[in-house]
Amino acid sequence: MRTLRDISALRETLNDARRRGERIALVPTMGNLHDGHLALVAAARQRAERVVATIFVNPLQFGAGEDLDAYPRTLEEDQSRLEAAGCDLLFAPDTAAIYPRGLEAQTRIVVPEVTEGLCGASRPGHFDGVSTVVGMLFNLVQPDLACFGEKDYQQLAVIRRLVADLHLPIEIVGVPIVRAADGLALSSRNGYLSPEQRASAPRLYATLCQLRDRLESGADTSTSLAHGWADLQAAGLDPDYLELRASDLSPVTDATREAVLLAAARLGATRLIDNLTLTLPH
Ligand code: AMP
Repeated sequence: MRTLRDISALRETLNDARRRGERIALVPTMGNLHDGHLALVAAARQRAERVVATIFVNPLQFGAGEDLDAYPRTLEEDQSRLEAAGCDLLFAPDTAAIYPRGLEAQTRIVVPEVTEGLCGASRPGHFDGVSTVVGMLFNLVQPDLACFGEKDYQQLAVIRRLVADLHLPIEIVGVPIVRAADGLALSSRNGYLSPEQRASAPRLYATLCQLRDRLESGADTSTSLAHGWADLQAAGLDPDYLELRASDLSPVTDATREAVLLAAARLGATRLIDNLTLTLPH
């Protein structure tokens, strides 16, 4: 597997692949790779001849006071994992290559509506940063398809909307959440948790599972969500949001069947997110 750091080398390499008629799949990441990321590589591998992963800790998607500086950077381990997973090419640019004029002067992509509420409410500007860098990666790599995790459910919806609105000829593949044996969704941020916090963290998923069971058997939504909120607090988690939305993230109506429970909660300074899809009864 080759690692490229500059844009012109990336373009040259991919032009060669494209001339040979190879299908190109993109897997964008911020590195510190775990089995969740590798599931994206596996999904890409199944669908394309060339798998391009990117590692870029994107400063544009971090707010003031967030963990940009502390974010784990583990390039060598990541390279070995990607290679073992069958990735062909890693693009790992530095910030100056991506934003040569600096962050303030950068042209941005702003996706409306689907960015409102949920993580968009507590992380202002976050999704503008995500859509800007992902739009740029789409332009640099020009992939046939790109794989994103369902763990970041709202992000996946934002990317689908970006691709639709800009008429980009890219298939977006959503990959199911990879979890630890105790149910905690794998995340690079889990490494911030103390042993005690790590022991409480699976309550987030457990609460979503309990809520799904209640709602699927017809329980009242607001009462159930209030119970879930209290359960999270009782487990030492500080909920940011706990919501039921239709699977396209629009508000739930009487006609909604396919829905999703979405939650974000803090354990100390660490913010965890998770979600679970469900089918509401008639
Ligand atoms: P990140 O490096 O956290 O920006 O994530 C890069 C990609 O990996 C995103 O599309 C995430 O949704 C996806 N991802 C992260 N964790 C998981 C997981 N536990 N299961 C599936 N996909 C994941």
